[in-house]
Amino acid sequence: MRADARYNKTLQNFKLILYSPFMALLPILRYPDTRLYKKAKPVREVDEYIRCLVQDMIETMKAAVGIGLAATQVDVHLRVIVLDISKEQNNPEVFINPRLIQQKGQREHEEGCLSVPGIYDKVTRADRVVVEAWDLEGKTFALEAEGLMATCLQHEMDHLEGKVFVDYLSLLKQNRIKAKLRKRLRETL
Ligand SMILES: [Zn+2]
Repeated sequence: MRADARYNKTLQNFKLILYSPFMALLPILRYPDTRLYKKAKPVREVDEYIRCLVQDMIETMKAAVGIGLAATQVDVHLRVIVLDISKEQNNPEVFINPRLIQQKGQREHEEGCLSVPGIYDKVTRADRVVVEAWDLEGKTFALEAEGLMATCLQHEMDHLEGKVFVDYLSLLKQNRIKAKLRKRLRETL
């Protein structure tokens, strides 16, 4: 998920300071790339590969000034998501094999996505959720989240199901967004 536009400027400046040549930045798939529609497979074991993937995903999310990233978005179809909703981008959280075990209420929030650059629109989701997942040690934990964190978790978990936030919008809007992003892609080639 993309950071609120208000914070972008500060974070971009921050990014320049944090950027180091040792970071492994992964390319992010852009909507409507069909690989964004693949369903991710469960992680069987948290091994060195998964730990490296998580590290690279956190670095990629930070460099792109995002607040959430799913492995699907970097073309790795395993159930891994990273989030960081802190303004300083210094509190990354990792969810391996996340499962939504409770949801309550409704909340409309303007969403953006690193795979759908420059597009923001309102999506209604549960306001409170309880998510169960594995941590980096492979241990199961449960987290109750509300507000932005709840929205972000649901947005990233959707990616693992092959779903992008644009899919919640009207067909007219979806087609407009597809046309816009395809045009932008052609212009950069
Ligand atoms: Zn997204």
